[in-house]
Amino acid sequence: MSLPDFKLLRPRSLAEAVELLGKHVDVQIVAGGTDLIPSLKQRLFIPAYVIDIRRIAELRGIRVIPGQGTEIGALTTLTEIEHSDLIRRDYPVLQEAAKTVASPILRNMGTLGGNICLDTRCLWYNQSLTWRTSCGFCIKKDGDLCHVAPGGTKCWAVFSGDTPPALLCLDAELEIAGPAGTRRLALRDFYTNLGDARMKLARNEMVSRVFLPERTAGYRGVYRKLRLRGSIDYPLAGVAVALKRSNGHVEDARVAITAVNPAPLVVRGVEKEMVGKSVTEEIAAAVGELAARTAKPLTTSALTPEYRREMIRVFAKRAVLEAGTK
Ligand SMILES: Cc1cc2nc3c(=O)[nH]c(=O)nc-3n(C[C@H](O)[C@H](O)[C@H](O)COP(=O)(O)OP(=O)(O)OC[C@H]3O[C@@H](n4cnc5c(N)ncnc54)[C@H](O)[C@@H]3O)c2cc1C
Repeated sequence: MSLPDFKLLRPRSLAEAVELLGKHVDVQIVAGGTDLIPSLKQRLFIPAYVIDIRRIAELRGIRVIPGQGTEIGALTTLTEIEHSDLIRRDYPVLQEAAKTVASPILRNMGTLGGNICLDTRCLWYNQSLTWRTSCGFCIKKDGDLCHVAPGGTKCWAVFSGDTPPALLCLDAELEIAGPAGTRRLALRDFYTNLGDARMKLARNEMVSRVFLPERTAGYRGVYRKLRLRGSIDYPLAGVAVALKRSNGHVEDARVAITAVNPAPLVVRGVEKEMVGKSVTEEIAAAVGELAARTAKPLTTSALTPEYRREMIRVFAKRAVLEAGTK
């Protein structure tokens, strides 16, 4: 499949990129391109301009800010995160999630910013133009019907990034750059849970950095995902767990899920279930139940919604036991 025609713009600084975003309306950002380029080929987007942000050196790398935490540039690759000693030591759940994304070659190109801003996915959307023309368009692109939930008006395409649930467990914040400068937003307030308008980012804004607070450094972390081919595929269900223990008791705990809703979500009620207690089979099972109830998978992928919800329950239980007892 060929790419549509567009004009490629290649800024060298964040300020230049933001200026270009303000100047052009019909525009797409490309970072590693591992998600956007296939989508362009499928004619899911036919932009007049593509802004390639890869030359912006200031958006690369991982750095400690003493007394505050760790800052990761949006263009830092998933391979860099996977192999960072600092991330492995201080934020292991992020390292675990990053190393499960796609395959090594895609992780060499794929960036953290691109993983956070990943488009939502669906059996009816991620198809060629020929396929979509013959089967009928949908709310997310060119139509007014959701094939997955035909009675409703909501798009149920699924958020299928692996690192955002880990980042949610770590209370990550985003730096968002726009014409008025930069602003900070908690990642948990970034997603809309709507498949067709997935994130709270204005047309002329972009994600520039990710902040991990010092407070969650050292939390034990586990990430588990279900996928069709273990060596490459997107998650069809994913669970991240991060917790802090002292004297055998849980001091703080967070669980987040991905690939079963239009957004990655923090599972509510986990702290109440776990804090102040030692992790047992019963507690882990109760957290698994909370996670399964948070998941709302529909028929957006090759596996059934029932199986994906059940795997959320199983993974959450196992991940809590692993993080809480080892
Ligand atoms: C075969 C295959 C398997 C895959 N498996 C997985 C998987 O298992 N798990 C997973 O999470 N992903 C998977 N992916 C998707 C993709 O490789 C990763 O999500 C990757 O991290 C995307 O990063 P990127 O830099 O390549 O994003 P791009 O493709 O460049 O961009 C992705 C989206 O984010 C937007 N964007 C990028 N950077 C910014 C920014 N700084 N600010 C605002 N918007 C931005 C782009 O406009 C685009 O909409 C897979 C892809 C393929 C082709």
